[in-house]
Order: sequence, then structure tokens, then C-alpha cells
Amino acid sequence: GFKCGIVGLPNVGKSTLFNALTRTAAAQAANYPFCTIEPNTGEVAVPDPRLKKIAGIAGSKEIIPTRISFVDIAGLVRGASKGEGLGNQFLANIREVDAIVHVLRCFEDDDITHVEGRIDPVADADTVETELMLSDLESLERRIVNVRKRAQAKDKESMTVLPVMEQALALLQDGKPARVMLKGIAIEDLRILQGLNLLTAHPVLYVCNVAEKDAATGNDHTKAVEKMAEAQGARTVVISAAIEAEVAQLPDDEELEFLASMGLDEPGLDKLIRAGYELLNLITYFTAGPKETRAWTISKGTKAPGAAGVIHTDFERGFIRAQTIAYDDFVTLGGEVAAKEAGKARDEGKEYIVQDGDVMLFKFNT
Ligand code: GDP
Repeated sequence: GFKCGIVGLPNVGKSTLFNALTRTAAAQAANYPFCTIEPNTGEVAVPDPRLKKIAGIAGSKEIIPTRISFVDIAGLVRGASKGEGLGNQFLANIREVDAIVHVLRCFEDDDITHVEGRIDPVADADTVETELMLSDLESLERRIVNVRKRAQAKDKESMTVLPVMEQALALLQDGKPARVMLKGIAIEDLRILQGLNLLTAHPVLYVCNVAEKDAATGNDHTKAVEKMAEAQGARTVVISAAIEAEVAQLPDDEELEFLASMGLDEPGLDKLIRAGYELLNLITYFTAGPKETRAWTISKGTKAPGAAGVIHTDFERGFIRAQTIAYDDFVTLGGEVAAKEAGKARDEGKEYIVQDGDVMLFKFNT
């Protein structure tokens, strides 16, 4: 599955946020499959209003959302790249995630110690990023020596990997994260970059943890973070972990009322989960029938057989074709039969690139 790692300095609200995420998921367990894989990993349902629409039209008994994982990665302190704190454990954990959710403290509270003794989320982001860059720089400088030698000796693999390594190294030496390379990167180079397992190559999302009173509006700290994120081409979500912790304990029917009293129209966690999903470059397709309407997750650009393989490997191996109805057609026309009559149920083959919202039915050989 796809994983977002939650990172940040101590006492910024990571655990509060993570617990709210998993408690929400646990509370919804009757309707939403949820499991804790490890103590610090939680799978959460991806909220998607399209599911209800499709299920209503298809007369489905059950709705099954798709899920992504969040991992609470504790232990980052200044000096982590040199093994301070839980440094090495932290770095090992963070290598295993696909994207980073970076929590920044944007709330003032004299009772809660800030490790650096002041509230300055942009400086905090810099502290964390510096540790990650130092770690990447060190590991890349160590590994590139041999790759250069082998490339000179005309080793094919080394010759393809080396330019990507050199580019990442140049960025890091210049004090920039490797993710700067992601923009417009060729798919082959992306694979190579991902293979290098660099901490700063993961896409990042900043979460501004604010006091309850600032949840709807943000504050000066969140504005500073937004400016910083914009310059990096990264996204920002403003959340009050304290509110989310409360919401996670409320019964469903009291949730919206409570949120409205805070000036909010949906749980911040929903925003966070959706942003994480986009950050991972994921899209959703649906299957729909009388038994269930279900959402499935694929990476953008996945072809029909690969999408079928998410349901079952047999579907991919024996793939013949896929009846495909765009979400808008499915809803405006009123379901599969009507879409077929209107000529909007397309028969797609092996080369079809699945689009977000496609309602699909796979034909396959067993
Ligand atoms: P972590 O070390 O980053 O995991 O931080 P925690 O989630 O353990 O939070 C550290 C402390 O800050 C705890 O006492 C939380 O209750 C508190 N805290 C977290 N979020 C907020 C918030 O939005 N407002 C206030 N006032 N306190 C918070």
C-alpha cells in the first residue's frame, strides 16, 4: 500500500494528529475496514463523496472506500543525521514511506515546551529539512564513488544511474532537497531516483497545527509557512490537532455541528487524507454492483490491466478488456444500463490509461 510518513520536531502535535487519524478510522470500523499494521502505522479510509452517489444509483448494499496508510515517525531532532536521538531508527523508517507529511507547530502554548524554545515554523521546517539533506548528502557521497568508477569502466547500469545521482548530489551540495528534480522528470529517471531511496526525494505536504481559535482562519505563522511552501511548489493544510482529537471521539451526527461551531465545514483530517492522496499521485476508479460499490487506488498513468491487478492478480494476467464508464456519465445518465444505451460504456483494451472516476467492469480469462 501507499504510505505517508508523519514527521516533525518533538511536541509539534504529530502523535495527537496520528491518534486522531487512527481513532477516526477505528470508530468507523463497522463501515470501513481498518487495521493497525504496526503500532505506529494506521490505515485510513479515503473520504470520497462519489461513492455514495454511485452506490445509490447501482443499488449497492455496501460501500467500501479505498485506503492509504499514515506512519507516525517519531524521533527527529537536530543532529538526527549524526545519530542523535532516535536518529538512525528515524532515518530507516522514513526511507520506507512514499511521501512526507511534515507537521509544523503554529500554536502558542507556554505549557508545552518547544524544543528550540520559540515558535517559528519556517525555521523548524528548515531544521528538519537540513537533517534530511545532510543524511542524503552523506549517503550519496559515499555511494557515488563506486558508481563513477563503474560508469567509467562502461558498466551499463552505472552509466544510466550516474547522471541522476550527479544531479541529486549537485542539488544537495547546493543546499537544496532532491525533490526539486521531481518537477517534469522523465519516468525512467523517476524510477532511478526512487531507487536511490533519498529522504529528500519524497514529495512533501506541510501541515500547520494551529490553536482551535485559528483553525478556520489560520494565523501569521501559517501564512509564513504557506509562503515558504509556495516557493517550493508544495501544498499546505491548516489543521488544529486538538479539534481533530475531539472530533474523532464524537458520534457521527454531532460531528458536523461541532465543526460548524468552530467555523469549519469538514474535518481537517478529511482535507489531510485527500491532500496526502494527491501528494502520492494517486487516483481512484470504481467498481459498482448490487453487492457493493468500491473504490480502488492506482497511480496516475496506470493502464487497464494494471488497474485490474489491484483487485486480483488473475484479473491482470487474464485481462481481455474493460467496460468503462466515466463517473460523470454514470451519474448524469443514471447507471450502467442507461450509459450503455447512450453509447457511453466504452470497451477499453490493454493500452487504455485509466482515468480518475472511471466506473469499470473487467472481462478476463481464468
Ligand atoms: P509530538 O511530539 O509531535 O508527537 O507532539 P504531541 O502530539 O505529543 O503533542 C505534544 C503536546 O502538545 C501534547 O501535550 C499535546 O496535547 C499538545 N498539542 C498538540 N496539538 C496541540 C494544539 O493544537 N494546541 C495545543 N494547545 N496543544 C496541542
